[in-house]
Amino acid sequence: MLAPIADVGRHPGTGGYRRSAWSDADMALREWFAGEARQRGLVLVEDGNGNQLAWWGAEDGHDALLLGSHLDSVPDGGAYDGPLGVVSSFAAVDALQREGFRPARPVVVANFADEEGARFGVACAGSRLAAGALAPERALALTDRDGRTMAEVVRARGRDPLAVGPAEWLTRVGTFVELHVEQGRSLVHDGAAVGVASAIWPHGRWRFDFRGEANHAGATPMPDRHDPVQAFAATVLAARRLATAAGARATFGRLDVEPGGTNAIPSRVQAWLDSRAAGEADLAELVAAITAAAQTAAEDDGTSVEVVAESVSPAVSFDAGLRDRLATLLDAPVLPTGAGHDAGVLSPLLPTAMLFVRNPTGVSHAPSEFADDDDCAAGVEALTAVVRDLAGAS
Ligand SMILES: [Zn+2]
Repeated sequence: MLAPIADVGRHPGTGGYRRSAWSDADMALREWFAGEARQRGLVLVEDGNGNQLAWWGAEDGHDALLLGSHLDSVPDGGAYDGPLGVVSSFAAVDALQREGFRPARPVVVANFADEEGARFGVACAGSRLAAGALAPERALALTDRDGRTMAEVVRARGRDPLAVGPAEWLTRVGTFVELHVEQGRSLVHDGAAVGVASAIWPHGRWRFDFRGEANHAGATPMPDRHDPVQAFAATVLAARRLATAAGARATFGRLDVEPGGTNAIPSRVQAWLDSRAAGEADLAELVAAITAAAQTAAEDDGTSVEVVAESVSPAVSFDAGLRDRLATLLDAPVLPTGAGHDAGVLSPLLPTAMLFVRNPTGVSHAPSEFADDDDCAAGVEALTAVVRDLAGAS
Protein backbone atom coordinates (compact mmCIF):
# COMPACT_ATOMS: atom_id res chain seq x y z
CA MET A 1 0.00 0.00 0.00
CA LEU A 2 2.98 2.33 0.44
CA ALA A 3 4.17 1.54 -3.10
CA PRO A 4 1.84 3.97 -4.95
CA ILE A 5 3.24 6.90 -2.95
CA ALA A 6 6.84 5.67 -2.80
CA ASP A 7 8.01 8.28 -5.32
CA VAL A 8 5.93 11.23 -4.09
CA GLY A 9 8.25 13.96 -2.84
CA ARG A 10 11.29 11.70 -2.87
CA HIS A 11 14.56 13.48 -3.52
CA PRO A 12 16.62 11.52 -6.06
CA GLY A 13 19.92 12.61 -4.53
CA THR A 14 19.31 11.83 -0.85
CA GLY A 15 16.56 9.22 -1.16
CA GLY A 16 14.71 11.13 1.57
CA TYR A 17 11.18 12.49 1.44
CA ARG A 18 10.45 16.21 1.18
CA ARG A 19 6.76 16.41 1.90
CA SER A 20 6.28 19.64 3.78
CA ALA A 21 2.76 20.92 4.44
CA TRP A 22 0.88 22.21 1.38
CA SER A 23 3.82 21.46 -0.97
CA ASP A 24 3.12 19.83 -4.35
CA ALA A 25 4.08 16.48 -2.77
CA ASP A 26 1.67 17.02 0.12
CA MET A 27 -1.12 17.92 -2.32
CA ALA A 28 -0.46 14.70 -4.26
CA LEU A 29 -0.65 12.70 -1.00
CA ARG A 30 -3.95 14.39 -0.13
CA GLU A 31 -5.32 13.32 -3.51
CA TRP A 32 -4.09 9.78 -2.87
CA PHE A 33 -5.77 9.78 0.58
CA ALA A 34 -9.07 10.96 -0.95
CA GLY A 35 -8.88 8.16 -3.53
CA GLU A 36 -8.22 5.52 -0.84
CA ALA A 37 -11.22 6.77 1.14
CA ARG A 38 -13.44 6.71 -1.96
CA GLN A 39 -12.37 3.16 -2.88
CA ARG A 40 -13.56 1.88 0.51
CA GLY A 41 -16.84 3.74 0.48
CA LEU A 42 -15.71 6.05 3.30
CA VAL A 43 -17.04 9.61 3.48
CA LEU A 44 -14.24 12.14 3.11
CA VAL A 45 -14.41 15.38 5.10
CA GLU A 46 -11.69 18.04 5.25
CA ASP A 47 -11.86 20.46 8.16
CA GLY A 48 -10.83 24.11 8.04
CA ASN A 49 -7.29 23.19 9.09
CA GLY A 50 -6.63 20.78 6.24
CA ASN A 51 -7.09 17.65 8.35
CA GLN A 52 -8.61 14.93 6.15
CA LEU A 53 -11.06 12.51 7.75
CA ALA A 54 -12.45 9.38 6.12
CA TRP A 55 -15.56 8.22 7.97
CA TRP A 56 -16.71 4.61 8.04
CA GLY A 57 -20.21 5.08 9.42
CA ALA A 58 -22.21 8.29 9.70
CA GLU A 59 -19.97 11.34 9.45
CA ASP A 60 -22.28 13.16 11.87
CA GLY A 61 -22.11 10.19 14.29
CA HIS A 62 -20.86 10.43 17.86
CA ASP A 63 -18.21 8.75 20.01
CA ALA A 64 -16.17 7.90 16.91
CA LEU A 65 -13.03 5.76 17.06
CA LEU A 66 -10.31 7.79 15.35
CA LEU A 67 -7.35 6.10 13.63
CA GLY A 68 -4.68 7.46 11.32
CA SER A 69 -1.59 9.63 11.47
CA HIS A 70 0.01 12.10 9.02
CA LEU A 71 1.48 12.12 5.52
CA ASP A 72 3.84 15.11 5.65
CA SER A 73 7.54 14.68 6.43
CA VAL A 74 10.58 16.48 7.77
CA PRO A 75 13.15 17.50 5.11
CA ASP A 76 14.64 14.22 3.83
CA GLY A 77 12.47 12.11 6.10
CA GLY A 78 11.82 8.38 5.89
CA ALA A 79 9.00 6.45 4.25
CA TYR A 80 7.26 5.25 7.43
CA ASP A 81 6.95 8.14 9.88
CA GLY A 82 3.35 9.10 9.34
CA PRO A 83 2.34 7.10 6.25
CA LEU A 84 2.63 3.74 8.07
CA GLY A 85 -0.14 4.82 10.45
CA VAL A 86 -2.38 5.97 7.61
CA VAL A 87 -1.98 2.88 5.39
CA SER A 88 -2.26 0.54 8.39
CA SER A 89 -5.58 2.18 9.29
CA PHE A 90 -6.92 1.68 5.76
CA ALA A 91 -5.63 -1.92 5.84
CA ALA A 92 -7.42 -2.54 9.15
CA VAL A 93 -10.64 -1.20 7.62
CA ASP A 94 -10.11 -3.54 4.65
CA ALA A 95 -9.64 -6.56 6.92
CA LEU A 96 -12.76 -5.72 8.92
CA GLN A 97 -14.87 -4.98 5.84
CA ARG A 98 -13.79 -8.34 4.37
CA GLU A 99 -14.97 -10.20 7.46
CA GLY A 100 -18.28 -8.34 7.42
CA PHE A 101 -17.59 -6.45 10.64
CA ARG A 102 -20.12 -3.71 11.37
CA PRO A 103 -18.69 -1.06 13.68
CA ALA A 104 -20.93 -0.09 16.59
CA ARG A 105 -19.47 3.44 16.45
CA PRO A 106 -18.05 5.39 13.50
CA VAL A 107 -14.45 4.49 12.63
CA VAL A 108 -12.48 7.40 11.15
CA VAL A 109 -9.13 7.37 9.33
CA ALA A 110 -7.32 10.70 9.65
CA ASN A 111 -4.55 12.41 7.76
CA PHE A 112 -3.50 15.21 10.10
CA ALA A 113 -2.18 18.33 8.36
CA ASP A 114 1.30 19.71 8.99
CA GLU A 115 2.33 17.29 11.75
CA GLU A 116 6.07 17.76 11.42
CA GLY A 117 5.97 21.55 11.43
CA ALA A 118 8.78 21.45 8.89
CA ARG A 119 7.47 24.45 6.98
CA PHE A 120 6.09 26.89 9.56
CA GLY A 121 7.99 25.79 12.66
CA VAL A 122 5.08 24.60 14.81
CA ALA A 123 4.68 20.82 15.07
CA CYS A 124 1.22 19.21 14.96
CA ALA A 125 -0.34 22.43 13.65
CA GLY A 126 -3.37 20.60 12.19
CA SER A 127 -4.31 18.78 15.36
CA ARG A 128 -3.43 21.73 17.63
CA LEU A 129 -5.69 24.03 15.62
CA ALA A 130 -8.51 21.48 15.61
CA ALA A 131 -8.13 21.03 19.37
CA GLY A 132 -8.05 24.78 20.06
CA ALA A 133 -4.50 24.46 21.41
CA LEU A 134 -3.08 26.87 18.81
CA ALA A 135 -4.67 30.24 18.11
CA PRO A 136 -5.68 30.62 14.44
CA GLU A 137 -4.30 34.16 14.20
CA ARG A 138 -0.93 32.99 15.49
CA ALA A 139 -0.82 30.02 13.09
CA LEU A 140 -1.87 32.06 10.07
CA ALA A 141 0.90 34.61 10.71
CA LEU A 142 3.66 31.95 10.83
CA THR A 143 6.03 32.21 7.87
CA ASP A 144 7.97 29.65 5.87
CA ARG A 145 11.56 30.07 4.65
CA ASP A 146 10.37 32.08 1.66
CA GLY A 147 8.59 34.52 3.94
CA ARG A 148 5.12 33.31 2.93
CA THR A 149 2.57 33.22 5.72
CA MET A 150 0.45 30.17 6.42
CA ALA A 151 -2.57 32.31 5.46
CA GLU A 152 -1.09 32.99 2.01
CA VAL A 153 -0.12 29.37 1.52
CA VAL A 154 -3.49 27.85 2.42
CA ARG A 155 -5.31 30.48 0.34
CA ALA A 156 -3.10 29.60 -2.66
CA ARG A 157 -4.21 25.98 -2.18
CA GLY A 158 -7.85 27.01 -2.37
CA ARG A 159 -8.50 26.88 1.38
CA ASP A 160 -10.14 29.63 3.42
CA PRO A 161 -7.90 31.08 6.17
CA LEU A 162 -11.05 32.16 8.02
CA ALA A 163 -12.02 28.49 8.40
CA VAL A 164 -8.86 27.71 10.40
CA GLY A 165 -9.56 26.96 14.06
CA PRO A 166 -11.26 24.60 16.53
CA ALA A 167 -13.00 21.72 14.76
CA GLU A 168 -16.49 20.54 15.60
CA TRP A 169 -15.83 16.97 14.47
CA LEU A 170 -13.33 16.47 17.25
CA THR A 171 -16.13 16.77 19.83
CA ARG A 172 -17.66 13.69 18.18
CA VAL A 173 -14.55 11.55 18.66
CA GLY A 174 -14.47 9.28 21.71
CA THR A 175 -11.10 7.55 21.31
CA PHE A 176 -7.95 8.01 19.22
CA VAL A 177 -5.45 5.23 18.46
CA GLU A 178 -2.41 6.27 16.37
CA LEU A 179 -0.11 3.62 14.95
CA HIS A 180 3.44 4.81 14.26
CA VAL A 181 6.84 3.41 13.39
CA GLU A 182 8.98 3.32 16.53
CA GLN A 183 11.60 6.06 16.78
CA GLY A 184 14.15 4.11 18.73
CA ARG A 185 15.02 0.47 19.35
CA SER A 186 13.04 -0.50 22.45
CA LEU A 187 11.01 -3.08 20.53
CA VAL A 188 14.19 -4.57 19.07
CA HIS A 189 15.42 -5.10 22.63
CA ASP A 190 12.01 -6.44 23.70
CA GLY A 191 11.89 -8.83 20.74
CA ALA A 192 8.37 -7.62 19.90
CA ALA A 193 6.93 -6.43 16.57
CA VAL A 194 4.36 -4.11 18.19
CA GLY A 195 4.30 -2.09 21.41
CA VAL A 196 1.95 0.28 23.22
CA ALA A 197 3.02 3.80 24.22
CA SER A 198 3.06 4.88 27.86
CA ALA A 199 4.07 8.52 27.58
CA ILE A 200 5.65 11.23 25.43
CA TRP A 201 8.50 13.31 26.81
CA PRO A 202 7.90 17.05 27.08
CA HIS A 203 9.65 18.78 24.19
CA GLY A 204 9.89 22.05 22.34
CA ARG A 205 11.58 24.33 19.83
CA TRP A 206 13.43 27.52 20.65
CA ARG A 207 14.83 30.08 18.21
CA PHE A 208 18.21 31.55 19.14
CA ASP A 209 18.91 34.87 17.48
CA PHE A 210 22.61 35.76 17.73
CA ARG A 211 23.50 39.29 16.55
CA GLY A 212 26.94 40.73 15.88
CA GLU A 213 28.55 43.01 13.35
CA ALA A 214 29.29 42.20 9.71
CA ASN A 215 32.79 43.07 8.58
CA HIS A 216 35.58 42.12 6.21
CA ALA A 217 37.10 38.67 6.78
CA GLY A 218 40.54 39.93 5.80
CA ALA A 219 40.69 43.48 7.07
CA THR A 220 39.26 42.91 10.56
CA PRO A 221 41.82 41.74 13.16
CA MET A 222 40.61 38.86 15.34
CA PRO A 223 40.35 40.86 18.59
CA ASP A 224 38.19 43.53 16.91
CA ARG A 225 35.46 41.19 15.75
CA HIS A 226 31.86 40.81 16.91
CA ASP A 227 31.24 37.50 15.20
CA PRO A 228 27.95 35.84 16.28
CA VAL A 229 29.06 32.43 14.96
CA GLN A 230 31.46 32.20 17.90
CA ALA A 231 28.70 32.38 20.50
CA PHE A 232 26.57 30.04 18.44
CA ALA A 233 29.38 27.46 18.29
CA ALA A 234 29.96 27.72 22.04
CA THR A 235 26.22 27.23 22.57
CA VAL A 236 26.15 24.06 20.47
CA LEU A 237 28.97 22.57 22.54
CA ALA A 238 27.31 23.63 25.79
CA ALA A 239 24.01 22.09 24.66
CA ARG A 240 25.66 18.73 24.08
CA ARG A 241 27.46 18.81 27.41
CA LEU A 242 24.40 19.91 29.40
CA ALA A 243 21.95 17.53 27.70
CA THR A 244 24.31 14.59 28.11
CA ALA A 245 24.76 15.34 31.80
CA ALA A 246 20.96 15.61 32.26
CA GLY A 247 20.13 12.42 30.34
CA ALA A 248 18.08 14.63 28.01
CA ARG A 249 18.26 15.69 24.33
CA ALA A 250 19.36 18.94 22.70
CA THR A 251 19.82 19.44 18.96
CA PHE A 252 20.60 22.40 16.74
CA GLY A 253 19.45 21.03 13.38
CA ARG A 254 18.63 24.21 11.53
CA LEU A 255 20.77 27.27 10.99
CA ASP A 256 20.66 30.50 8.97
CA VAL A 257 23.79 32.64 8.74
CA GLU A 258 23.60 36.18 7.37
CA PRO A 259 24.85 37.51 5.07
CA GLY A 260 26.36 34.10 4.32
CA GLY A 261 29.50 35.19 2.45
CA THR A 262 32.72 33.18 2.69
CA ASN A 263 34.78 36.37 3.01
CA ALA A 264 32.46 38.20 5.41
CA ILE A 265 32.15 38.04 9.20
CA PRO A 266 28.46 37.29 9.73
CA SER A 267 26.09 39.83 11.23
CA ARG A 268 23.49 37.38 12.44
CA VAL A 269 22.97 33.69 13.18
CA GLN A 270 19.54 32.21 13.67
CA ALA A 271 19.57 28.69 15.04
CA TRP A 272 16.78 26.45 16.23
CA LEU A 273 17.11 24.28 19.32
CA ASP A 274 15.01 21.13 19.65
CA SER A 275 15.13 19.88 23.23
CA ARG A 276 13.41 17.07 25.13
CA ALA A 277 13.63 15.64 28.63
CA ALA A 278 11.85 13.13 30.83
CA GLY A 279 10.15 15.81 32.96
CA GLU A 280 8.91 19.35 32.36
CA ALA A 281 11.07 20.85 35.11
CA ASP A 282 14.13 19.05 33.72
CA LEU A 283 13.40 20.45 30.26
CA ALA A 284 12.93 24.02 31.53
CA GLU A 285 16.15 23.75 33.54
CA LEU A 286 18.10 22.43 30.54
CA VAL A 287 16.89 25.15 28.18
CA ALA A 288 17.63 27.81 30.82
CA ALA A 289 21.17 26.47 31.19
CA ILE A 290 21.74 26.43 27.41
CA THR A 291 20.37 29.99 27.20
CA ALA A 292 22.71 31.11 30.01
CA ALA A 293 25.67 29.53 28.21
CA ALA A 294 24.68 31.37 25.01
CA GLN A 295 24.44 34.69 26.85
CA THR A 296 27.82 34.29 28.53
CA ALA A 297 29.46 33.39 25.22
CA ALA A 298 27.81 36.33 23.44
CA GLU A 299 28.89 38.82 26.12
CA ASP A 300 32.48 37.66 25.81
CA ASP A 301 32.45 38.64 22.11
CA GLY A 302 30.45 41.86 22.41
CA THR A 303 27.57 40.22 20.59
CA SER A 304 24.04 39.49 21.79
CA VAL A 305 21.53 36.67 21.81
CA GLU A 306 17.77 36.53 22.18
CA VAL A 307 15.86 33.29 22.74
CA VAL A 308 12.22 32.80 21.74
CA ALA A 309 10.16 29.68 22.48
CA GLU A 310 8.37 28.76 19.25
CA SER A 311 6.47 25.76 20.56
CA VAL A 312 6.61 23.84 23.82
CA SER A 313 4.65 20.64 24.37
CA PRO A 314 4.01 19.36 27.89
CA ALA A 315 4.61 15.77 28.99
CA VAL A 316 1.90 13.38 27.85
CA SER A 317 0.80 10.32 29.79
CA PHE A 318 -1.56 8.31 27.67
CA ASP A 319 -4.86 7.15 29.16
CA ALA A 320 -3.86 4.38 31.58
CA GLY A 321 -7.03 2.34 31.20
CA LEU A 322 -6.82 2.31 27.41
CA ARG A 323 -3.07 1.64 27.45
CA ASP A 324 -3.49 -1.36 29.76
CA ARG A 325 -6.46 -2.66 27.79
CA LEU A 326 -4.50 -2.59 24.52
CA ALA A 327 -1.31 -3.99 26.06
CA THR A 328 -3.31 -6.94 27.44
CA LEU A 329 -5.32 -7.41 24.24
CA LEU A 330 -2.16 -7.48 22.11
CA ASP A 331 0.14 -9.02 24.71
CA ALA A 332 2.49 -6.15 23.83
CA PRO A 333 5.21 -4.34 25.79
CA VAL A 334 4.66 -0.76 27.00
CA LEU A 335 7.28 1.89 26.15
CA PRO A 336 7.79 5.69 26.34
CA THR A 337 8.89 7.91 23.44
CA GLY A 338 10.91 11.08 23.01
CA ALA A 339 8.99 12.07 19.86
CA GLY A 340 5.88 14.23 19.63
CA HIS A 341 2.70 13.11 17.85
CA ASP A 342 -0.85 14.24 17.10
CA ALA A 343 -1.88 11.62 19.67
CA GLY A 344 -0.03 13.70 22.28
CA VAL A 345 -1.96 16.82 21.27
CA LEU A 346 -5.33 15.09 21.50
CA SER A 347 -4.64 13.10 24.67
CA PRO A 348 -5.73 15.90 27.08
CA LEU A 349 -9.12 15.94 25.30
CA LEU A 350 -9.98 12.26 24.95
CA PRO A 351 -8.68 8.76 25.71
CA THR A 352 -5.74 8.31 23.37
CA ALA A 353 -3.28 5.48 22.73
CA MET A 354 -0.40 4.74 20.40
CA LEU A 355 0.86 1.52 18.87
CA PHE A 356 4.50 1.38 17.78
CA VAL A 357 5.87 -0.91 15.08
CA ARG A 358 9.44 -2.18 15.44
CA ASN A 359 12.13 -0.23 13.57
CA PRO A 360 15.31 -2.33 13.26
CA THR A 361 17.57 0.67 12.57
CA GLY A 362 16.01 2.76 15.33
CA VAL A 363 16.55 5.67 12.92
CA SER A 364 13.74 8.08 12.15
CA HIS A 365 13.44 11.42 10.33
CA ALA A 366 16.04 10.08 7.87
CA PRO A 367 15.97 7.83 4.79
CA SER A 368 17.21 4.74 6.69
CA GLU A 369 14.04 4.65 8.83
CA PHE A 370 12.61 1.18 8.27
CA ALA A 371 10.11 -1.50 9.27
CA ASP A 372 10.00 -5.10 8.00
CA ASP A 373 6.98 -6.14 5.94
CA ASP A 374 6.22 -8.81 8.54
CA ASP A 375 6.26 -6.25 11.34
CA CYS A 376 4.07 -3.87 9.31
CA ALA A 377 1.61 -6.76 8.85
CA ALA A 378 1.73 -7.42 12.60
CA GLY A 379 0.95 -3.74 13.14
CA VAL A 380 -2.10 -3.97 10.86
CA GLU A 381 -3.22 -7.11 12.65
CA ALA A 382 -2.86 -5.38 16.02
CA LEU A 383 -4.75 -2.31 14.86
CA THR A 384 -7.49 -4.53 13.41
CA ALA A 385 -7.83 -6.30 16.76
CA VAL A 386 -8.00 -2.92 18.51
CA VAL A 387 -10.84 -1.72 16.26
CA ARG A 388 -12.67 -5.01 16.73
CA ASP A 389 -12.30 -4.58 20.50
CA LEU A 390 -13.16 -0.85 20.73
CA ALA A 391 -15.82 -0.63 18.00
CA GLY A 392 -17.41 -4.07 18.28
CA ALA A 393 -21.03 -4.55 19.26
CA SER A 394 -21.21 -4.59 23.05
ZN1 LIG B 1 5.17 11.02 12.83
